[in-house]
Amino acid sequence: MQRLRNIGFAAHIDAGKTTVTERILYYTGRSHRMGEVHEGTATMDWMPEEQERGITITSAATSCPWRDHQINIIDTPGHVDFTAEVERSMRVLDGVVIVFCGVGGVEAQSETVWRQADRYRVPRLAFVNKLDRAGADFDAVVAEMRVRLGTRPIPLEMPYYVGDDFRGVVDLVDMCLILWHDETLGAEFEQLPLPAPLLDAARHRRELLLEQLAETSDWVMERYVHDHELDTASIRRALREGTIALKFVPVLCGAALRNKGIQPLLDAVCNYLPSPLDLPPIQGVHPKTGKPTSRRPSVQEPLAALAFKVMADAHGDLVFLRLYSGRIRSGERVYNPGKRKAEMVSRILRMHANQRTPIAEVAAGDIVAVVGLKETTTGDTLCDRSHHIILERPAFPETVLAMAIEPRSSEDRNRLADTLNKLSREDPTFRWRYDGETSQVLIAGMGELHLEVLSHRMLDEFKLDVKVGRPRVAYKETVTGTAVAEGRLVKQTGGHGQFAKVTLRVEPAPGSLALHFEDKTRGGVIPRQFMPAVEEGVREAAASGPVWGYPLIDVTVTVTDGASHEVDSSDVAFHAAAGQALNKAVEAAGAVLLEPIMRLEVVVPDDYMGDILADLTSRRAEITEVKTRGHICYIEGRVPLATMFGYATGVRSLSQGRASFTLEPCAYAPVPQEMYEEIAV
Ligand code: GDP
Repeated sequence: MQRLRNIGFAAHIDAGKTTVTERILYYTGRSHRMGEVHEGTATMDWMPEEQERGITITSAATSCPWRDHQINIIDTPGHVDFTAEVERSMRVLDGVVIVFCGVGGVEAQSETVWRQADRYRVPRLAFVNKLDRAGADFDAVVAEMRVRLGTRPIPLEMPYYVGDDFRGVVDLVDMCLILWHDETLGAEFEQLPLPAPLLDAARHRRELLLEQLAETSDWVMERYVHDHELDTASIRRALREGTIALKFVPVLCGAALRNKGIQPLLDAVCNYLPSPLDLPPIQGVHPKTGKPTSRRPSVQEPLAALAFKVMADAHGDLVFLRLYSGRIRSGERVYNPGKRKAEMVSRILRMHANQRTPIAEVAAGDIVAVVGLKETTTGDTLCDRSHHIILERPAFPETVLAMAIEPRSSEDRNRLADTLNKLSREDPTFRWRYDGETSQVLIAGMGELHLEVLSHRMLDEFKLDVKVGRPRVAYKETVTGTAVAEGRLVKQTGGHGQFAKVTLRVEPAPGSLALHFEDKTRGGVIPRQFMPAVEEGVREAAASGPVWGYPLIDVTVTVTDGASHEVDSSDVAFHAAAGQALNKAVEAAGAVLLEPIMRLEVVVPDDYMGDILADLTSRRAEITEVKTRGHICYIEGRVPLATMFGYATGVRSLSQGRASFTLEPCAYAPVPQEMYEEIAV
């Protein structure tokens, strides 16, 4: 376990994360051809959708050997709309490499992933890429990290240029110059003594490195004041301790496209990022008692594993597992305490992008994919059958946008539900439902790009061609007062007739988000067997919206009276009468529209704060808190979702791309009167 690393790469889009990963796969011998992003052949981006767009959108997991270590790489996406993917991978990573562009520096999305890594307390390394490009400035990026990210970056290297030509790097720990051989695509390199002209600069920077280590470590400080020098092994030890304790971030550099700088990065991953053994025991609760319980990272402990990704696959679903303790053998039964089901692990696979090797057993600390699980979905815990534990689920934000979709051909209609179910099992931030009133299928997700990518996947992977509607807000209806109404269906003109009378009361149940149904009739005025039809009639009318066509929530409906006929009463008659009674009662009780209110956080450099706040006010936002940390300003508040369409674009232009934001649903609130005309058509 000591030689295992579970890491991810995160970056602003286009910083070179995919190119770096490709080089790693090549140099570690897992891929025999170097894929290029711009040719659409990158190994990690294997879904057709990703190759087309040249972006990485799913976290595939890949294992590769380096020196005597095994590195599991979880691929994390770089786009804002896919934050759920980043969240989910942060949860199972032990360390992360953040890739920066040597020209662009600290860009908005790198700030966002940096903060996500902070939230999960993930130790990290920084890699400043693209140093071959005109305008690249390693020192400027390091300075920017200090100011914008509020971190302590410690460069372990400096770039080596001949004229404007980026040739290699100076290693400040081993004090040598590393040059790569172009003929072997950088697979071979040599470590040379430092040439005289570089000596002064390298010594000065090494001094800075040692000073920073001394500032953050007592034992280094003690040695440093006495000897003023530290041996290489001690430097490595101090770097490892400080990185794992999140005291600082070692910074490396290179140009992935030019095949330079990758092997020292891999060495740094092994040297400085934590192994599963360096982590505290994983916390969970006992599923029955709710008592906190934990598992140490050891094969001796009972099994605890987290399913962090489900991927639909031609041969059955692949479930990606992170094992925290214990082991699983192929063909063994494990327990899913959340679903209360025993599950069979029929095969265990070590994944390499889209290739896989079956293995017989997997032990604590490792990440693998397994086949055979039927019930397990993303976020579920798997544990030993006689030692139960539930681990904390990764936090997934609620969906914010819905849009109608419709298959272009009628044959595809039947396959639609099946496909949507598959997609939602894979992706916990994707939902769908059938809307009876409009006869439309609504899909909901995290943003427009998210839904767009999903509809592309429907076409590419499932051959399902769909038309998509405009994105919209999910409004609701509720009542402001109490009212009683009767619904009746009485048709008794000859032959078999129909007879049902239902009297019911509606009253507000604020904040419950639900419709509570109660039966308070007496003396069998409505025979027991018809009550389910009454409830169904009420719920159906409520779901399709008594007044404006939006679902009714926050109400209690009590059936108080009714009447039946020995021969002419039926389920159908009570169903209809109940629906009619509900619609009348809601109208009499005074209906209002509710809109989703979102909790909002905007993180922005303070220069842009004024503009961002003014814009938020015009969007009916209620600002609850403004905090500043360094030059970064955190704005918190509540805002109706309806005013936030296009905010991603708006906030980008107001802040020159420097702001990031999160929106999550927190409540429903009455829609202001003046907005009714727009909504209630
Ligand atoms: P990602 O979006 O972070 O995965 O970035 P990619 O790996 O897809 O790279 C984005 C673009 O930058 C591609 O066209 C790469 O070829 C290019 N690129 C990546 N690394 C380097 C580099 O070191 N130098 C230069 N000049 N271009 C690079």
